[in-house]
Amino acid sequence: MDESLGELPRTDVLVEGDRIAEVGPNLAADGARVIEADGDIVIPGFVDTHRHTWETSIRTCAPDYTLGAYFGAILDQFAPKYRPEDVYAANLWGALECINAGITTLVDWSHIMNTPDHADAAVKGLQDAGLRSVFAFGFPNTSIQAWWFGPDYGGSVERIDGDEARRIRSQYLADDQGLITMALATRGTNFCKPEVVRYEWELARELGINITVHVAMDRFGYTKGQLLALRDMELLYPNTTYIHASHLLEDEWQLVADSGGNLSLAPQIEMQMGHGWAPAATASKLGIPVGLSSDVATTAPSDQFTQMRSVFGSERARRHQMAWDEDLDGNTPTPDLVDSRQVLRWATLEGAMVAGVADRTGSIAPGRKADIVVIDTKAVNVSPVIDPVGAVVCAADTSNVKTVIVDGRILKEDFRLSADLDGPRRLVEASRDFLVSSVPAQPGWLVRATS
Ligand SMILES: [Zn+2]
Repeated sequence: MDESLGELPRTDVLVEGDRIAEVGPNLAADGARVIEADGDIVIPGFVDTHRHTWETSIRTCAPDYTLGAYFGAILDQFAPKYRPEDVYAANLWGALECINAGITTLVDWSHIMNTPDHADAAVKGLQDAGLRSVFAFGFPNTSIQAWWFGPDYGGSVERIDGDEARRIRSQYLADDQGLITMALATRGTNFCKPEVVRYEWELARELGINITVHVAMDRFGYTKGQLLALRDMELLYPNTTYIHASHLLEDEWQLVADSGGNLSLAPQIEMQMGHGWAPAATASKLGIPVGLSSDVATTAPSDQFTQMRSVFGSERARRHQMAWDEDLDGNTPTPDLVDSRQVLRWATLEGAMVAGVADRTGSIAPGRKADIVVIDTKAVNVSPVIDPVGAVVCAADTSNVKTVIVDGRILKEDFRLSADLDGPRRLVEASRDFLVSSVPAQPGWLVRATS
């Protein structure tokens, strides 16, 4: 993923402290601890650019949901029941899940700030896992059923608690080069009254942090004009992450590109729940950085192999269909197909751009933070390897993630996490039991998980 180095065969990577010191063949390093990766594939750690990690404790409770059903059940019923310990258990377990799956940077989109204790618990879960993270501080969970279904919806008047955001920034996340940094998770135009939007955008500017916001998703997405409204309010900040962006209007695409924004796409969720196609190829053509994301564990797997394959398949399917609709003759190859290297770049380096950490991670090169993943090539689903990028994008899965280094610390080695899993698992299962017993049984649940 480093342009000047490219893809290298039989290469050593020397790590000193939290950084990569050298990359090259046969490096001498007396006394260094050697991690054997002979014949394996070494890649930069994956970046998940948007995950509501607090939902890890209710994983797969909503396999068949559309976005509308999700709003009603997850945000309206589960979220208000969450206690701080539920947020802690979910964030810790979700962050450990990242490490296991080779995700070395997570953007935790945390809209479960029901009380100050919830915010503390969310940060502590990330801290205890040791994962590189961007804590996107949000709001207490509020219903958006009215936004969705109400024809007279005029926008929420509830704003992010600015004093709380300032406290989190100064108490935990003041260091913009730290292992955990901060962003602001906002609802934005069309969800909220203009004065709320302005307050939150100005809060982000005051705190010196980036904004991440959901836009233009689902069947009504193209009617919302969220980017046009931001333009009219002169709030198109650079480095803002626009999530989903399934139905941006043509003018809006240009606004994202011209303002230096970027995209977080959750292709598996977007296809499954009805947000729309993940428009990764459109964004890339405009030079807009694309990151992949898992969004919600309630409904789809949270690893990046799933996201890579979803966007690879869906973007190529769309392009093929367009070509056929344009009546290309049967012998002409479909033009402009996305390729595997582009997909791996979205999952790593461009993901780091979207997360706002590309100055330190997303590629393997001297001077970069040591966020490194070793993919095993001996496994029955990966061997034999011809093209290593093909092996990662088209064959490997989480079971092949052999060793994971974050910030120079070995958090998984030879398929074993260094963290204890039993304690955190007990916490997240107890949290599941509490939460599931706190809401009415949802349609489609075969067995309630509690004993
Ligand atoms: Zn989301």
